[in-house]
Amino acid sequence: MSIILKTAFFLCIKKVLSQQTRCIASISTLPETHQMLYKTCRDFAENELKPNAAKFDKQHLYPAEQIKKMGALGLMAVDVPENLGGTGLDCLAYAIAMEEISRGCASAGVIMSVNNSLYLGPLLQFGTQNQKEQFVRPYTTGDKVGCFALSEPGNGSDAGAASTMAEKTGNNVYVLNGTKSWITNGYESEAAIVFATTDKSKKHKGISAFIVPKPTPGLALGKKEDKLGIRGSSTCNIVLEDCEVPVDNMLGEPGFGFKIAMMTLDSGRIGIASQALGIAQASLDCAVDYASKRVAFGGPITKLQAIQIKIADMALKLESARIMTWRAAHLKDLKQPFTKEAAMAKLLASETATFNAHQSMQIMGGMGYASDMPAERHYRDARITEIYEGTSEIQRLVIAANVIKQYQ
Ligand SMILES: Cc1cc2nc3c(=O)[nH]c(=O)nc-3n(C[C@H](O)[C@H](O)[C@H](O)COP(=O)(O)OP(=O)(O)OC[C@H]3O[C@@H](n4cnc5c(N)ncnc54)[C@H](O)[C@@H]3O)c2cc1C
Repeated sequence: MSIILKTAFFLCIKKVLSQQTRCIASISTLPETHQMLYKTCRDFAENELKPNAAKFDKQHLYPAEQIKKMGALGLMAVDVPENLGGTGLDCLAYAIAMEEISRGCASAGVIMSVNNSLYLGPLLQFGTQNQKEQFVRPYTTGDKVGCFALSEPGNGSDAGAASTMAEKTGNNVYVLNGTKSWITNGYESEAAIVFATTDKSKKHKGISAFIVPKPTPGLALGKKEDKLGIRGSSTCNIVLEDCEVPVDNMLGEPGFGFKIAMMTLDSGRIGIASQALGIAQASLDCAVDYASKRVAFGGPITKLQAIQIKIADMALKLESARIMTWRAAHLKDLKQPFTKEAAMAKLLASETATFNAHQSMQIMGGMGYASDMPAERHYRDARITEIYEGTSEIQRLVIAANVIKQYQ
């Protein structure tokens, strides 16, 4: 290799390495756009979400005004291209924004996550130009939100066993019948991505995806679920009874629905990992703040080594989970496989959220248990991150399958 070629090669490697290191090291080493986005989200969460999060939780209140403001900031369509009304940023930017919003309010976090990852994500990837114009653009501003209806009363983890049916009729419509359960944004959404079986004999390969606007005759909502946490977001059943959807509203090819759902959840897990990071960070924030003011045995409890060890463990888990999450996002941005990394990030971040929320309450003693303080809300909010978009058990199955494949 000539000297010139060698120099060009090393310069190229150096550039690639510096970009990768820059992306996953820490906020201060990220590109300027990402740092600005972080600051915008941080300020918004501090001023608009954190002061209201207890009210949204206690009153089961959808944060409509804040979601509109998040739309104005570009947060409801972070990685949607600008020509479709989105912000045109990448998945790493989305992860950073999701964490900061969820640090202020985990309910606002899940509403944002469902709109970005579960609703707009599959439309961008599989939608036709007409579908994008009709169902992407109006959902980028925070005025409208979408939802994703995969789970059913009879199957959550085993999503391939969907029993909702879609039958094609002579009138160029599909007729949908069945019940979808646990649908986040169910009440507020104005369109849903609904998964239904078009060919039962093909099992999961007979599932197709449909875009169903609301209202559509034959689509009804069940009661709002009374949940442990993320109580500012609505969760309900969607009941489909002879619900007619034009054939043009099929998303992707017939029988491609299961694949669309699984690919959507791969990306969605980066969003939920980031939501979990936000809850874990908020738990650490309030634990350190309280511990530095609380006096016991003649000094602040931050002087006690038992408390210091808890703080160290919380910070360690949090920063490890953040690096895993950013790595998954970065791989997605590089268009490399990220299924295993997204599952690892979601698993680690969600277990960290639960751990940190538990330790935070412990550090705060009795005050941690009272609803006047945010620690008990973080404790309740954290729990769902280990359940939706694939339980921790399912993440382990995904990770193991990918690890074993690497050896074959
Ligand atoms: C608040 C909330 C919001 C949600 N939002 C949405 C939404 O917007 N859209 C949507 O489609 N769904 C949504 N869901 C549904 C959610 O994704 C499912 O609840 C979740 O996937 C688990 O499914 P399940 O509840 O049916 O539990 P099950 O699948 O019945 O699992 C029960 C237990 O068995 C374990 N298990 C199951 N299979 C295996 C296996 N093969 N190996 C080891 N363990 C296993 C599970 O890990 C779990 O511990 C939401 C749920 C909640 C609670």
